Amino acid sequence: MTIAWREKVGLVTGGSRGIGRQIALKLAESGMKVAVNYRGNDEAAKTTEELVRHLGVDCLLVRSDVSDISQAQSLVNTVLEHWGRLDVLVNNAGIVRDTLLLRMRDEDWYDVVQTDLTGVFACTRAAIKPMMKQRFGRIVNIASIAGLMGNAGQANYAAAKAGVVGFTRAVAREMASRNITANVVAPGLVETELTGQMAQEAFQTLIKKVPLGRAARPEEVADAVWYLVQAEYVTGHTLVVDGGFVMN
Ligand code: NDP
Repeated sequence: MTIAWREKVGLVTGGSRGIGRQIALKLAESGMKVAVNYRGNDEAAKTTEELVRHLGVDCLLVRSDVSDISQAQSLVNTVLEHWGRLDVLVNNAGIVRDTLLLRMRDEDWYDVVQTDLTGVFACTRAAIKPMMKQRFGRIVNIASIAGLMGNAGQANYAAAKAGVVGFTRAVAREMASRNITANVVAPGLVETELTGQMAQEAFQTLIKKVPLGRAARPEEVADAVWYLVQAEYVTGHTLVVDGGFVMN
């Protein structure tokens, strides 16, 4: 079946910068309209909007905090009011609050779980209604290899990202009969502001463990997302994009 992407609408959470921006551009390359959500960085979001429009595609910026369930619901409602449909949801927004478990404050735990896991739940629950009506939907959630293998200093993040994998599999099973697929992309190290916050020494030590010898470019993660968006017979899958880091 050939899918008429130009008639479709995509939403990328956390699309102002980093991996999310490249995902927004990848969706736009297909001709679909793209809504870009972000939390606060208006300047970065406007740059993404310009880049998407440069591809000849309509773009809607929606500033909202996906860690707040009611804002996540209104984010999806805003897209529906604007374009009347939602076909592709990429739950990409995520934060880290790295620290060893002994020192982890309650808010370090809650902030990460609320953004990285509850945000995915809230946006997905809101999106499946229109997708069910359309009898078409593609959901791609961005997890991390930390959710598959764990990582010292990331108990909060690893738990949230592992939760995203389990959540996605449940959604995939619930929604398969409605022609809605749900999949995960689990990146390893990617060159973004998020990894830029890491101590350079720690970053280089990790890079040495990557068989392909480098971090991923955000575009390489976006390519994996696009594969899962256009795939018709793949659901509940976790696609690892890590240069061979995990390999199990
Ligand atoms: P960045 O820090 O570069 O960008 C984060 C994006 O998420 C920004 O657009 C930010 O908006 C948005 N965001 C953060 N919190 C919220 C919120 N509560 N509501 C709405 N938007 C929010 O991150 P990356 O591009 O590096 O990461 C993207 C995803 O990939 C995350 O889920 C991350 O966990 C995952 N990942 C990243 C890896 C890496 O090495 N970089 C490795 C594995 C997974 P604003 O600009 O307004 O702040």
